[in-house]
Amino acid sequence: MPDLYCVFGNPIAHSKSPAIHAAFAASTGEALCYEARLAPVDGFRQAVDEFIARGGRGANVTVPFKEEAFRLCNALTPRATRAGAVNTLSFVDGRILGDNTDGAGLVADITGNLKFSLAGKRILLLGAGGAARGVIEPLLAGRPATLMIANRTADKACALAEAFSDIAAPQGDLLRGALSAGNFTDLAGQQFDLTINATSASLAGETLPLPPGIFAPGSLAYDMMYGKGETPFLKQAREQGASLCADGLGMLVGQAAEAFAVWRGRHPASAPVLASLRSALKG
Ligand code: NDP
Repeated sequence: MPDLYCVFGNPIAHSKSPAIHAAFAASTGEALCYEARLAPVDGFRQAVDEFIARGGRGANVTVPFKEEAFRLCNALTPRATRAGAVNTLSFVDGRILGDNTDGAGLVADITGNLKFSLAGKRILLLGAGGAARGVIEPLLAGRPATLMIANRTADKACALAEAFSDIAAPQGDLLRGALSAGNFTDLAGQQFDLTINATSASLAGETLPLPPGIFAPGSLAYDMMYGKGETPFLKQAREQGASLCADGLGMLVGQAAEAFAVWRGRHPASAPVLASLRSALKG
């Protein structure tokens, strides 16, 4: 019998995770079966318990359960603790271990697939929800010159900056001072080399009230959202002068590859899976 994994979410029918993990299993020769499971909004814990009882070895967690998953774990990795959310569960000897691979997936896409180095760059992170929180530490680990968090509700951005203000770089230098926060009007007069949209505005087809001139020449605009065509944020970024634009499909594949490595101890090649998902989206 292949080892059993799944992704929990609500809704979940359109999840690409089963196809991604099936491709990873085929390319690595790992014997596993991965399915999408709809959990009731008020029944996540029970759905996890049932899956464990069926012999499940691990699970991914998506909207709206990442914070609840964080709370039900018996042990957490440091990056999951920092993120305050869990997207990867491992079921080992009756215990639930929680990890968060979203930030690693984003950084792998930006620095690996897109070949855009974070070192010394001025980074703008738009949004202060769960997705933003999960990527701050891996972004800081890339040693940017500055990281500004801007959110519609400025207080939430300030709280996030405060929560991460003690992070040390690998060399031990404190990055305190590199982090700042505010709302969108605070961006006026500033320029950024990398702007990441971690708001859900694009999901609603809305654009953000970004002041003109924030995209530096040669800058990359990255939208965590992905879809068939250009997202509203990427259209706005292109029109406001961003040189390079990328959506979050690579982040999706990257976080899945990292989760696969957590479970199976080996990193699958993500580029062929990303290329095939991209051509399916275009087709
Ligand atoms: P949350 O609900 O936790 O946070 C939403 C954020 O968006 C908040 O900062 C909120 O601001 C802001 N926001 C919502 N609507 C608007 C608007 N109209 N104008 C300005 N700001 C707005 O969501 P998540 O953090 O979980 O997800 C954010 C995005 O990231 C989603 O699009 C999600 O699909 C994507 N994502 C992609 C992943 C991938 O693998 N590619 C992985 C994880 C997430 P406020 O605080 O003021 O309400």
